[in-house]
Amino acid sequence: MKLDSNIPYKIYLTEEELPRAWYNVRADMINKPAPLLNPETHKPMTAEELSVVFCDELVAQELNETDREIPIPDDIRDFYKMYRPAPLVRAYCLEEKLQTPAKIYYKFEGNNTSGSHKLNSAIAQAHYAKKQGLKGVTTETGAGQWGTALSMACSYYGLDCKVFMVKCSYEQKPFRREVMRTYGASVTPSPSMETKVGRAILKEHPGTAGSLGCAISEAVEVATGLDGYRYVLGSVLNQVMLHQSIIGLETKTAMDKYNIVPDIIIGCAGGGSNLGGLIAPFMGEKLRGERDYQFIAVEPKSCPSLTRGVYAYDYCDTGAVCPLAKMYTLGSNFIPSASHAGGLRYHGMSSTLSQLYADGYMEARSVEQTKVFEAAEYFARIEGILPAPESSHAIRVAIDEALKCKETGEEKTILFGLTGTGYFDMYAYEKFHNGIMNDYIPSDEELQASFARLPKVEE
Ligand SMILES: *Cc1c(COP(=O)(O)O)cnc(C)c1O
Repeated sequence: MKLDSNIPYKIYLTEEELPRAWYNVRADMINKPAPLLNPETHKPMTAEELSVVFCDELVAQELNETDREIPIPDDIRDFYKMYRPAPLVRAYCLEEKLQTPAKIYYKFEGNNTSGSHKLNSAIAQAHYAKKQGLKGVTTETGAGQWGTALSMACSYYGLDCKVFMVKCSYEQKPFRREVMRTYGASVTPSPSMETKVGRAILKEHPGTAGSLGCAISEAVEVATGLDGYRYVLGSVLNQVMLHQSIIGLETKTAMDKYNIVPDIIIGCAGGGSNLGGLIAPFMGEKLRGERDYQFIAVEPKSCPSLTRGVYAYDYCDTGAVCPLAKMYTLGSNFIPSASHAGGLRYHGMSSTLSQLYADGYMEARSVEQTKVFEAAEYFARIEGILPAPESSHAIRVAIDEALKCKETGEEKTILFGLTGTGYFDMYAYEKFHNGIMNDYIPSDEELQASFARLPKVEE
């Protein structure tokens, strides 16, 4: 293997170099993301309305479009030190195997027990809940990564954590559930008999396997009905993307140290938080006209919000209790097929990323599940890390781009986000190995039917 004499296999930062402020990309956007709307009045949500559901300081961050830098409280920074800075890896082995002139780097976020980048925002949200003197928080989890991260963060701050876990995941992923309980969270399969909305759904659809949208509605109902509780969310919102900017800031610091400039930056996109966080400081440079980069969002062909969705106001949940967000969406009634990349099965997309995509600052691609697992296994065998199915969407496109460079002889520098590990996804790997994984792609008719049910909002 030929190493660049001046670039190590892994680039680590020191604790001193850990960023002291998050970067708020909205401050540099000319077209700001559209505001959240009250689902009943269709007027922009005020801070007062939002603070019934969310913690006060998180509401302030959600609405802040002017401050470029938001200081990271010392407490959070200290927690970050337990598992950050995350390494930036030069994928020398992968480059050699592919015989590509491209230089490939990845930022690895799987170095903590929850196994993904979600802890970056979980700890921040728990911090502000604690600061506000709350007793606890509620949330939903689908595949389980967010619930795991939040339960770790809550146990650190001594907060109660109530997780509504989509019933089929609760049954199929008992290990995720037990990790959450190890950290002291209570985990309820959703829909449940504990909430009005849960009871209504169970009455209408007895034996349903549940959905993310339904679990959100239950978590919000419990948070707003209990004294001293608020609801927290692991993706999609501006505040989450803000916290995740730590990924991009560390990456940029590490690259600057070695004079590395990426040409292409790739990330998988579910609700958009890891991609938004990874590209944030680079996007800032592009928005300010200082430098150009190619940004690529990768989504599953089974849930193609950016590549086949419409840019419109939509509900964030199935129960329609949450505010309306303007985003690329497949419609809140769209139920994606049972893809194994649970973290990418969301009908919508961060409104910040949606605006950047609409304005042409970013590209999007969709990939088939079996192609993703081919890339996952290839990567695991060469670079050693067993990647999460979500992360493997980014690996797929990084490999495709590196192979294009092999054809053209271009020495591009490719950076991608490796958001997590896949140890809790071995049923999915098993299906892949047994050749029984399918590539479901929704039809145009199916999508049109869902678009027809979008809320009518005058802008
Ligand atoms: C949740 C998750 C994602 C997708 O969420 P984003 O908000 O789009 O980043 C990607 N990878 C992993 C490992 C996840 O857990």
